[in-house]
Parts: sequence; structure tokens; C-alpha cells
Amino acid sequence: MAELIDGKQLAKKVNAQTEQAVTELKTQGIEPKLVVIIVGDDEASRIYVRNKNRKAQQLGINSETKQLPKDTSQTELLKLIDQYNQDETVHGIMVQSPLPSQIDEAAVTRAISPAKDADGFNPENVGKLYANSDLNFPVSCTPKGIMTMLAAYDVQIAGANAVIVGRSNIVGRPMAALLLNASATVTVVHSHTQNMQAYTREADILIVATGIAHLIKGEDIKPGATVIDVGMNRDENGKLTGDVDFESASKVAGKITPVPGGVGPMTIATLMQQTVELAKWSE
Ligand code: NDP
Repeated sequence: MAELIDGKQLAKKVNAQTEQAVTELKTQGIEPKLVVIIVGDDEASRIYVRNKNRKAQQLGINSETKQLPKDTSQTELLKLIDQYNQDETVHGIMVQSPLPSQIDEAAVTRAISPAKDADGFNPENVGKLYANSDLNFPVSCTPKGIMTMLAAYDVQIAGANAVIVGRSNIVGRPMAALLLNASATVTVVHSHTQNMQAYTREADILIVATGIAHLIKGEDIKPGATVIDVGMNRDENGKLTGDVDFESASKVAGKITPVPGGVGPMTIATLMQQTVELAKWSE
């Protein structure tokens, strides 16, 4: 049986470090502050935002949620973002997706100051990631959290064959850049890839982020591989399930993340960690 990569436990450790960092910053007169903007009344978004808010407050981060009506115009939203960009007490800004159709998500991403970009989606920060910059800059929290998991579980990255299933801007692409920067040999497969299993079976590190429940099974995995399941899908009974068939995969993999309790808790912990980093870097 594979060793379990316990994201819940690791998130507790990361959160404890973040709480400590907040205490230290406060002694220097800096109170890290995160602003989360939510447009409309999507129920799932509200729950995400409430969880982020609660976690921030637990860790001593000043967290503000700005709820806007669903008919908010793009101009109004960009104006509000600009106000927060100018506000020196604010260190991190994020806009919860999905956004209503009258708002262009890319324009919003560009509007958030790169120095306050809690999600790490601003093209300037994405460019630094791809250029493997040695400057301080934020990175998309899910892949950044996965790098923390790989390090905590002593997974060898340099020289490893890393295969990522999915090429989204928030998971697959930044994950590829982070692993390449850490000297893995990286392959990204997606819905147009032919014979995807030929790639996944060669992976020492397999990261799956597709949103398709149980796409990857034990037979698609190299024996002993590290398998990271990003997927969050609801089955017919409303139970949370991953993109990897845990039962068959855990018999073949060397290390594996569960769903729930794997990547999910690490994403929030990384958002908090990154907010505090933005506050530190602002000095
Ligand atoms: P997207 O829908 O943006 O991207 C999905 C990717 O999977 C696409 O690149 C798509 O390919 C690829 N894909 C779809 N079908 C296949 C297939 N049959 N074979 C190979 N590749 C395929 O999703 P996200 O990256 O935003 O999210 C992926 C999953 O991760 C979701 O379940 C989401 O809920 C979850 N998630 C979890 C987070 C966490 O904190 N735990 C954070 C973020 C996401 P193509 O580009 O060709 O269409």
C-alpha cells in the first residue's frame, strides 16, 4: 500500500508557521491584510470565501470580504480593485471566481497589483514564474502547495519524470513551470493527447487536475510513483471524490494524496502563507 500524503496534517504545520510569522510581523507594526472580493451570490463561492475568511482570522490575518451584487459592472469592480491597490494597509487582494458574464476575468487578473496578487494569477507574476526569476513573487496557490507537499514527503524532483494531466492556468501550467524550475523532466498531457496512459505510466511524479472523477486508475500508474490528486468532484451521493481512483491507485503508487484531505487543505494554507509573504515583501 502507498504511503499517504496527509495534506490536512501538513496544512496544520504550515498554518502554525504562518501564525508565528504573523505574530513576528505584528511586533514590527505590520498587520497582514487580505481582501477577498466576491461578485454575485454563487453558493459554492460563498462557502469558499467564508472558509478563507475564517482561516485568516484564526491565524491573526486581518481579512475583509467585499460582497458585490451580481450586476456589478466591470468598471465598478476595476475601480474597487484600484482603491485596494492604493490602500497601504492591504497586502493581498483576490477576486473569487466564477465571475458574472459581464466581467472579463482576464481584465480583473491584470488589474490586481502584482505586489498584492494573493492568487498569483497576474501575467507579470506568471511571467516571473516561467522565467524562473529569483525575485520574490506570488505563485498560484494549488501548485505552490503541492511543491510544499513534495518537499515535506522527501519526493526527489530533480531528474524525475513528472507528468501533469491538465493544462489550466490555475493548476496545470503553473505546476509544470514549478516542476521544471525544480529540474524535473516535465510532460503536460490534456484532452487532445493521444494514448495518455503511455505518458502517465512513465511518471515518477504524476499530478492529476482534470475535474474528471476517477480518470486515472492503478493500471495507468508506474509502480512506486508519487501521485497527487487535485480533482474535487461530487459523486452521485454528494461525496467528494478525486480524479484518481484511490482504491486501485494506492495499491500501485509509492505515495499518494487522498481526496478529501490532500491538496484541498494545502491550497488554503498556501493562500494564507502567501498573504503573509506579500506583507513581508511590501516592506
Ligand atoms: P479546468 O477545467 O480548467 O482544466 C481541466 C484540464 O483537464 C484541461 O486542461 C483539460 O484539457 C484536461 N482534461 C479534460 N479531460 C481530459 C481527459 N480526458 N484527459 C486528459 N486531460 C483532460 O480545471 P482546473 O485545473 O481548474 O481544475 C481541475 C480539477 O481540480 C477540478 O476538479 C477542480 O475542482 C480541482 N481543483 C482543486 C483545487 C484544490 O484546491 N484542491 C484547486 C483548483 C482546482 P483541455 O485543456 O484540452 O481542455
